[in-house]
Parts: sequence; structure tokens; C-alpha cells
Amino acid sequence: MIKVNSTIDMILWAMFLAIPVLYILIYLLNVNFKKNRKKKVIRLVINTFFIILLVVLLKLALFSVGETKTTKEDDITTTTTKEVKTTTTTKKTSSVKVVSKEYPKLDYIDGEREEKGYTSKGYLIEEVNGVTYIDGYMIANKTYGLPETYVPNNATLYKIAPVAQSYLDDLFKAAASAGYNLKDQSGYRSYSVQNNLYNNAVKRGGEAAADKYSARPGHSEHQTGYAMDICDKDHMDACITTAYDKVPSAKWLSENAWKYGFILRYVKNKENETGYGYESWHFRYVGKDLAEILYNNGDWITMEDYFGITSKYSD
Ligand SMILES: [Zn+2]
Repeated sequence: MIKVNSTIDMILWAMFLAIPVLYILIYLLNVNFKKNRKKKVIRLVINTFFIILLVVLLKLALFSVGETKTTKEDDITTTTTKEVKTTTTTKKTSSVKVVSKEYPKLDYIDGEREEKGYTSKGYLIEEVNGVTYIDGYMIANKTYGLPETYVPNNATLYKIAPVAQSYLDDLFKAAASAGYNLKDQSGYRSYSVQNNLYNNAVKRGGEAAADKYSARPGHSEHQTGYAMDICDKDHMDACITTAYDKVPSAKWLSENAWKYGFILRYVKNKENETGYGYESWHFRYVGKDLAEILYNNGDWITMEDYFGITSKYSD
């Protein structure tokens, strides 16, 4: 069944119902009513009834209205997002409550949506309460920061956002069946926690070194609540270190996490795209559809490359 928005749905109804109207017109123009008038009228009524029944059933079988509540502006969004467009500076705002069932696309976010143009690959950039969404996916990297006030719904410090918990549970269950004992080491981190982490990293090795692995406050994906640093309980010495890459569960995760909607966020040799060095432990929930695309049969595509965005601090 094809999902359409309400405007297209109305057009489709008009098109389908034009068929019986056309039939009546052709019938009236071609049939001579002078003889057997009653019989011909009855035939017209019966035929029309069955034609209407048929087109209604056909319409319902082929098309359904999408579940997402959208405004007219959103309708435009849906149809244009996939097209490659140059960046525009037009701004549109709409103060609708965004309640999408297509998690993690704009899920649970209430507030005014502001269109900020398109990425170099034609994806719509939107902002809600200072949080950036690209094609509906929340983005936090060196280019796009989160406001200090942003806290995921019902978030618990160091846990994953509740909406992604069941997917993480499934991932860990699958890992356990494969013989790996995983630990959800560090998930949601507030702006202030990240601020401390970053400042400590700067104190240890200077700003340039800190920027390679630690995010500046507001720029950490951990503040979204959708990121999780995963460790192996049997190899805690390698937990959140470059040594984790050599632990067998790291390989298993990189090959299987996508099935549960998680992506390896900072892949090898893509620092120029993501802005970060390789992190074999850092996974981000994006939902299975996007995760499968980005997994790309093992040849990971970064979110930055896929959406056509940068990850660079402005200063
Ligand atoms: Zn991390």
C-alpha cells in the first residue's frame, strides 16, 4: 500500500470518483432512452453502483493516508527532501506539535520548527528549540551543537534515551547469544557533565588533542541520548580505549549493531568527515532503516557524508 498525505489523498479520491461520473456521461450520450427507458435507467443505476464500489475498494487497497501529522509545509518537505537542491536561505516556521511515530525522526519534540535550508545533498535542515534535525534525524557534531538546556525526554544520566532502550536491550541479547558480555558504559551526558569532561581533556593534553576524541560541551552526541559507549565486561581494561578495536566483541558489534538500529558513528579513516578519530566503542541509534544504509555491507558511510554536512567547529 502506498502512503500519501491528505492533500494527495483528496486528489486521488477525485480521480477515482471521476470514473463512475465519466461512465454515466458516456452512457447518457450513447444510449437511446426512447425505448425501454425503465430498463435502461435501472441498468445505469446498477452499473454505476458497482463501478463506484469497485473504484472505492481499489482506491482503499492501493493508497492510505500517512500516520504522521503534517502541515502543508511538511507536505512540501516530504516531497522535496530527497531531491538534490542547493542551499536556500528561506526560513519557514510552523508552530505545530511534532508527534512522529517514525522514531527517531523528530520524536517527542514539541516546539516551533524552523526550516534552515537544505544540505549539499538535498536534505532538509530544521531546528526545533535550537536542536538541529536533518531529514528528521537529530544531529550533534562539531558544526551542529545542542543548546545547554537540551535534555532528552525522561533521560537518565549515562543511560540511553528511553525510546531507544529496547533496541539496545535486543542488541545486547544478541551479543550474549554470540558469547559477548557487553556493558552500556556511557550513554546520555548532560551539557555540564560534558563540560567537565572536555575541560579535563584539555588540561591533560591541550585543546587540539582534546578535540580529537572529546566533544566540546553542546557538541557531544552523548547529549542527544541516542549514543552509547559500549564496553566488554570480559575486557574492561580496553573499555573506551583504542585497544577495544582488538577485542572480538568490537568486530561483532561493527558487523551486527546495524540490525538493531545502531551505527558505528566514528569509523576508521573518516576523521575528515565526522571530525573525530576512530571510536570502536561509540554507537549511535538512528533506527534500522538508516543504520542499514550507513552500514553499507561493512563499508560504513558516515552521517556527514550521507546527509552532505560538515563537522567542524566554527572557530
Ligand atoms: Zn562516545
